[in-house]
Amino acid sequence: MATLGGCDMEPAQPPDPVADAAYATARARMVHDQIAARGVTDARVLGAMARVPRHEFVSAAQRRLAYEDGPLPIGHGQTISQPYIVAFMTAALDPKPDHRVLEIGTGSGYQAAVLSGLVAEVYSIEIVEPLALRAAEDLKRLGHANVKVRVGDGYLGWPEAAPFDAIIVTCAPEQVPQALVEQLRTGGRMIIPVGSQWGGQELVLLRKTARGLEKREVLPVRFVPMVGGNRRP
Ligand code: SAH
Repeated sequence: MATLGGCDMEPAQPPDPVADAAYATARARMVHDQIAARGVTDARVLGAMARVPRHEFVSAAQRRLAYEDGPLPIGHGQTISQPYIVAFMTAALDPKPDHRVLEIGTGSGYQAAVLSGLVAEVYSIEIVEPLALRAAEDLKRLGHANVKVRVGDGYLGWPEAAPFDAIIVTCAPEQVPQALVEQLRTGGRMIIPVGSQWGGQELVLLRKTARGLEKREVLPVRFVPMVGGNRRP
């Protein structure tokens, strides 16, 4: 069958109500056991995690693992994040229905799909073109019409669409990119893993206030590195 950009994903399967019901049950268990049990309480976020079919964002080979408690490979050396981390980061943004959100690191498109049901618009940037193309197609197929995907270096943000009410970064730069701070609305929040592959990374929650940036380290994490513009010469 045709593949997009040399990826190992196959086109959509025909509808299967029995499988869909089993996936919904697995998802409900995921929300209860992995996410709510670890302290994410935002009802809208839990609702989105219970609705978005994570199995649609992984390959057929990974599908039976889609609701397990961990990251999964999505090709090109990248991963879809652990469900708990997706929920934690989403809740940290305090998403509102009128928000416009920027995501750096589209990957599979799953995080963008979760946000899509919670906010007005999602802008997502992915540096690996085949991943961006595949995610855009999956998001469209699943009806997430309020997500725009662009191929590019997220280090530079998406200036034409700024300012954003919230920014979520799902790959780790060594420092917070200044362009992203500039593209955040005053009062807005950014959640971003900062650090190196070796020295450890911290998930940092930033709030841009009229008096400056408030910064809080909230969780030790391990994300793939942000590549591109932040590379040292
Ligand atoms: N949010 C994704 C998981 C992302 S994995 C999901 O829900 O599936 C991190 C992604 O960041 C990878 O796809 C990687 O290619 C991408 N990435 C790395 N550096 C980047 C950069 N400078 N700009 C945009 N995307 C980048």
